[in-house]
Amino acid sequence: MATIEHWIGGEFTAGSGDRTGPVFNPATGQQQHDVVLATPADVDAAVAAARTAFESWSQASLSKRTKVMFNFRELVNARVKEIAELVSDEHGKVLSDAAGEVQRGLEVIEFACGIPQLLKGEYSDQASTGVDVFSFREPLGVCAGITPFNFPAMVPMWMYPVAIACGNTFVLKPSERDPSASNYVAELLKEAGLPDGVFNVVHGDKTAVDALLQHPDVAAVSFVGSTPIARYIYEQGNAHGKRVQALGGAKNHAIILPDADLEFAAGHLTAAAFGSAGERCMAISAAVAVGGAGDALVDLVNRKAGEVKVGSGRDAASEMGPVVTAAAKQRIEGLIDSGERQGAKVTVDGRGLSVPGFEEGFFVGPTVLDQVEPSMDVYREEIFGPVLSVVRADTVDAAIELINSNPYGNGTAIFTSSGEAARRFQRGVKVGMIGINVPIPVPMAYYSFGGWKDSLFGDKHVHGPEGVSFYTRAKVVTSRWPHVSHAYDASLHFPTAS
Ligand code: NAD
Repeated sequence: MATIEHWIGGEFTAGSGDRTGPVFNPATGQQQHDVVLATPADVDAAVAAARTAFESWSQASLSKRTKVMFNFRELVNARVKEIAELVSDEHGKVLSDAAGEVQRGLEVIEFACGIPQLLKGEYSDQASTGVDVFSFREPLGVCAGITPFNFPAMVPMWMYPVAIACGNTFVLKPSERDPSASNYVAELLKEAGLPDGVFNVVHGDKTAVDALLQHPDVAAVSFVGSTPIARYIYEQGNAHGKRVQALGGAKNHAIILPDADLEFAAGHLTAAAFGSAGERCMAISAAVAVGGAGDALVDLVNRKAGEVKVGSGRDAASEMGPVVTAAAKQRIEGLIDSGERQGAKVTVDGRGLSVPGFEEGFFVGPTVLDQVEPSMDVYREEIFGPVLSVVRADTVDAAIELINSNPYGNGTAIFTSSGEAARRFQRGVKVGMIGINVPIPVPMAYYSFGGWKDSLFGDKHVHGPEGVSFYTRAKVVTSRWPHVSHAYDASLHFPTAS
């Protein structure tokens, strides 16, 4: 069984500890690798490598940084299949979906290729007589990324291409459930010409995360994961003087109005609820049927959910793979049980699914719960599995109120043919990312990604312009080159323009 090691200073290392964690193949249910779990000394080594590399990388020209990013873009583009296979084998998602996440990550790399344009400063000629003012942005230093299991390629790519293109160095602590994609891209970055130490990977759990949060040489932390850990990262990072962006969990609602094309809405809801086995932070987990839309919608969704082909991620016929661990399967099935106990109607039941040839795999089939009430656990909890809850509301305003009462505010969508209703919705919801007849409104790389409320702690969203802002800080220069006749007009009063 291969052991997955850290990547520090441009090479693999087993580190100094003796703890390892199991990496499973969720389709077979079998352990396929061990991954080393970092000690604080391993984190020290990675941060030291990044700190040393920062001295020269922060001085590398924009041309040099851009060239590395373009090379990296070409290499990732040529290896989408290889990265997707690593993701599928450790996460469980189907290959086409894994390739899709690499593609969305690639778009951030392409965004980072434009870094000379993004880092252009401002210049005010003759702000005062003989005085010019200009601003520019500099990198922060060593930045850390702590990422979740559900997008092992894409979520790290939301962070490090932008951070590195801005002139920072990076230590990535990926999820210990599916660590291999991070090591693979580390080698590609080296092949692209990135100097050793600019990008490092430490594998591990809370011990590694705490060492990063407390390390005096880590300037900024980007986190994506569940809300309780996001809150912890934000508080601890701030307490240790770091800039932090911490993206948390979600409970994304879609509103379906009676004037929507219900066949279209049901197809997209099914894809958004069950794609990647519901393990997406932008998955739709609650469908709010407004007015008379409910019964017809549930009939359509039931039919489409029943048609989803569940199987191994490596089988080209599969549309949905297993969930990530045995514990996740148990938790998801437990929540479906509780929904049933609390009065919801299980109209499609994915519990106890067995896939021929993969009987030990962590499979849960698509599940639809109708007549769900906001007081039920299945509605209140982030299930993070292939479960769609259908809730009823009398009016659009009641549906908007339901969304706004939820502690999360990551994504939401409306299905309607009314521009007026869509506009009321887009202006009324307290949510960061909104889809109009688009169920998973993940912004393009040149916009920024982030939710509101318990879905994001910190001021800045990831990638796009806010990512560039997060990974840099501004300098403003006020400059004068005095002519000899002006050299002695200094005054003690506060400087004002003249
Ligand atoms: P998680 O919070 O369990 O883990 C995320 C990271 O934190 C991992 O690297 C993990 O090793 C680390 N971690 C876990 N427990 C820790 C602890 N006690 N102390 C310090 N570090 C700890 O999340 P997950 O299960 O890997 O991912 C699923 C979650 O991520 C879901 O809640 C999902 O909504 C969320 N997510 C959010 C977004 C977003 O953009 N808002 C995107 C993807 C996933």
